Amino acid sequence: MLIDGHGRKVNYLRISLTERCNFRCQYCMPEKPFSWVPKENLLSFEDLFKFVRAAIDEGITKIRLTGGEPTLRADLDRFIQMICDYKPDIDLAMTTNGYLLAPIAKQLKEAGLKRLNISLDSLRPEVAAKIAGKDVLANVLKGIEAALEAGLKVKINMVPLKGLNDNEIVDILEYCKDRGMQVRFIEYMENVHAHSDLEGMHGKEILERIKRRYTIHKIGRQGSSPAFLYQLEDGYTFGLIDPHKHDFCESCNRIRLTAEGYLIPCLYFDEAMSIKEAVQKGDIDEAVRILRLVLANKPKENRWSEETSEASSRAFYETGG
Ligand code: SAM
Ligand code: SF4
Repeated sequence: MLIDGHGRKVNYLRISLTERCNFRCQYCMPEKPFSWVPKENLLSFEDLFKFVRAAIDEGITKIRLTGGEPTLRADLDRFIQMICDYKPDIDLAMTTNGYLLAPIAKQLKEAGLKRLNISLDSLRPEVAAKIAGKDVLANVLKGIEAALEAGLKVKINMVPLKGLNDNEIVDILEYCKDRGMQVRFIEYMENVHAHSDLEGMHGKEILERIKRRYTIHKIGRQGSSPAFLYQLEDGYTFGLIDPHKHDFCESCNRIRLTAEGYLIPCLYFDEAMSIKEAVQKGDIDEAVRILRLVLANKPKENRWSEETSEASSRAFYETGG
């Protein structure tokens, strides 16, 4: 079992498979970064798997693949298959922008993927294009339909932004409700990489928009999820992720691995340690020692707040959001 320095049980590993992305979302990567990590610096699926296997042996029961855009990695289904062959009952999920999903959704499901979170910020082609930097909506919607048809459990992520998609909060909620998918509204997290004139919405403003149309009831947080759940009168449940609060830190169960092999104890901190050399040498004991060390130093709570400048400068596309 993996326990961090504050006594929290850690059983959730998020793996960023690449920092590269085919979108240029205004809130994440509005410009192509000055330089990408060279492809040869990325951990191969074989090396990643060596770490994943050890992490599972140590107590990881839940894995999420993210990025950047994870569907840009060739042979993604092969990596999923490797993990699921080793641990068929692993809770294996992925976060994607959905653009390249339609042709591969069935393969991913057959390889063992269980759940998908797909980002959908607008149902209007021109707004979606403005946020993502190119015309994306048709492909994303096809990706969502293909994932549902393949039998994957799908949740939708939306980041509401004032003057851009804030008038679509209810539309997206209803789109998801009609298809049996949970939507999670994510408060925009300010960061140095984002477009500077963006204005996010506070959780209570997002709820106000929904309350204009629906009566909502609080449910609460489930397990270690950062999403606070709400329910409509008809039983439909949606989530709100409010990173400006620290109240999910006390039940934090996660650790992150970047595509280059850095283990990150908290999304909002710059500290990280690399397991790359260890796994490339096949020294799994050393990789596990580093994992335990990083967990021992996992901070008690994130430093995220608008008043502090101490939060990490690492981009969301590197850490996987
Ligand atoms: N490319 C994939 C995608 O967009 O779903 C996975 C990686 S992305 C970094 C993961 C999640 O982080 C997405 O749902 C995205 O909306 C969210 N995200 C990225 N930057 C954000 C920001 N500044 N504030 C809030 N959420 C953000
Ligand atoms: Fe790419 Fe996802 Fe970041 Fe958008 S949020 S730029 S899709 S990594």
